[in-house]
Formats: sequence, structure tokens, C-alpha cells
Amino acid sequence: MATLADVLAERTAEAASELVEPISNNRLRCHACGHLCPIPDGAVGVCKVRFNRGGTLMVPWGYVGALQCDPIEKKPFFHARPGALAFSFGMLGCDLHCSYCQNWVTSQALRDPQAVAPPIDVEPTSLVEEAVRLNARVVVSTYNEPLITSEWAVGIFKEARAAGLMTAYVSNGNGTPRVLEYIRPWIDLYKVDLKSFNDRHYRQLGGRLQPILDTIRALHAMSIWVEIVTLLIPGFNNSDEEISELTSFLAGVSPDIPWHVTAFHKDYRMSDPENTTPDMLMRAAEIGQKNGLRYVYAGNIPGQVGDLEHTRCHQCRALLVERYGYFIQSYRLTPEGTCPECHTSVPGRWGRAFEGQIASMPFLPGRRRLRLF
Ligand code: SF4
Repeated sequence: MATLADVLAERTAEAASELVEPISNNRLRCHACGHLCPIPDGAVGVCKVRFNRGGTLMVPWGYVGALQCDPIEKKPFFHARPGALAFSFGMLGCDLHCSYCQNWVTSQALRDPQAVAPPIDVEPTSLVEEAVRLNARVVVSTYNEPLITSEWAVGIFKEARAAGLMTAYVSNGNGTPRVLEYIRPWIDLYKVDLKSFNDRHYRQLGGRLQPILDTIRALHAMSIWVEIVTLLIPGFNNSDEEISELTSFLAGVSPDIPWHVTAFHKDYRMSDPENTTPDMLMRAAEIGQKNGLRYVYAGNIPGQVGDLEHTRCHQCRALLVERYGYFIQSYRLTPEGTCPECHTSVPGRWGRAFEGQIASMPFLPGRRRLRLF
């Protein structure tokens, strides 16, 4: 019987030349993520989805492992088209192996036999046609690590841009200079999970801290709109010292980068820590604000985090976007993206007007229209 790896090996294309470096004797170095794997002929990279076949790097192409319509607030982006529908797709596989992953069915499909997520064959054009039909404003590569499947994301993003849509990554940020240059012409928004500010913790998850910090700096320098999420896990990353270092770093890149500190709930293989409480989130948010971040949000516990779901003008504190969970309750930014009270410019990728909200909860798109059956 064919394994999932066999099935996926049939759904591949040659890697983009920008992401491959020949080494010697058919060995290749992959530049799609910060692991920079040297891959001998016949071997796979750490992510298990990119592999060397006879001196050619083969990469995922032509399928999705997950497809869903999300409110953009779920990604989360709070400073990009509030209320927009985010047409979200993912492939399979990841370059990290976080034990608390909330997308483990897709991200760990090649490592964990319990993660069963069969691929669904699809063309970029039919994905984008469905996104347009549903009035989505953004197409998002998410659910697995998008960097490791960047060729497929760019294939879809080219169609999405041609249809007038924005594009986004929801990523662990384990990038490289080459992959960021490769996606740069085709991407508008980028969410990075900054999981910790401790390299030892990152190594437990299968990565390193430095490539993530370098990616955040590079994305900001490229004028790609960046928002950062830290899932606050009691006993793992929630010490005052670590949160202070993390938020000082972000404020040093730019005080205008929105930082979302979100609540952990027991998931996948991490069931030891207690769930994050509202008080823990508010304590971390206070540290971030003291360190200079102007837009700090607390997530995953709607209605219990005081003011920390809303966007306020950093200058006069006027209420600009009022939220409950993913639901937009009010929107007061001007068409120019400024505060209506004091006219301070509010950083982000705002529309000329709030266009309402199609959904404040995720839903599945029409599979028949996508010709997925
Ligand atoms: S994407 Fe990352 S993990 Fe996968 S082969 Fe390339 S460098 Fe290695």
C-alpha cells in the first residue's frame, strides 16, 4: 500500500532555481527555510516534503491538505482590512515539530501516523476563482508551514494578485534571505509566530531563534506588513524576563508592529501546562506596552481581556476598531487610515472603507465548485 510520502511524491514539481544551491555530486542545499538542508541524491530534507531526485530538488505542488474561509482576525491580522474574508489553504508538512501545534493534522502528517490529512488535488485558478466568488479579500497560505511550500504559494498568489486580491503567509518565520526575496514580489501580509525568546526552547521545537529574528527584521525592511503572535504557555515562555526581552526586540524593529499575545489551551502532545489565564495575558501585554509597543492585543479568551481586543489610536487613545473575538463591533478609521479624532496615521493595510464582515467564524468553501470530488 502506498504511504502518504509516496502519494505526495507524485504531487511535486521542480524547485524554484532561486531556492536551490548545487553543492557537489548531486548534493543540493535547499534555501526554503532556515534549516538550509544539504540533501544528497535520494534523500529528503528535515521537512520531509522536499527531496533530491537524481540531482533535482522536488517540491510540493498541485494539492491542498486543508482549505477554509476564515475571518482575517483569526490569522490574526488586526491591521489589515478588518472584517475581510481570508481564503485559507495549506499543504502538508512542517520544518518544526511543536508539541502544542494547533494544526498538527496538516503540519505533522508525515511524522505522526495519527495525523491523517489526505491531499486534495486542485489548480491555482480554481482556488482563486472560488476565493473571488466568496468575496474574499485575501488569500492566505497557512495550516502547514508555508515557507517550505513557497513555490506552490507563489503559483497561487500570482493568480490571486491578477484577480485583485491580497496575499499572506501565516508562518513560523524560519526563513532565509533567498526565500524572502523569492516571495517578496507576491506577498502583502506576513504573520510570524515568535514562540519564545530563548534559543534552547526553539531547539526543543526543532529550530533556532536567530533565523526567526532575522526574518522579522528582513520582512519589516522589505515593507511587507508584519504582525507577530506569541502563544503564551505557562512555564514555557511566560516569565517576565523572557517577555520583556521579546517585546524589547520587537519594539526595536518597530513600535508599530502589532503584537498578539494569545492564550494556550491543552493541545496535541502538550497537556502538562495549565491553560493560560486572562491575568497572564494582561501581564504580558502590560510588559509589551511598557517596552514601547503601540499595538498590543490579547487573544483566544474573548471578552475577558479588558481593552486588549480593540485597536486604539496610540496618540489620543480614541477607539478605532472594536472587537469581540473575531467579530468587528465598530470601525472608525478614516478612508486615509487615520484616527478621526486627532488625525494620527495608524500603521496597517486599511481599505478605503469598512466593507462589513462576511463571517466572524470559519466555514468551509464549496468543494463541488472547486471540482475537488
Ligand atoms: S524547506 Fe527547510 S527543512 Fe525542508 S528541505 Fe528545505 S531547508 Fe530543509
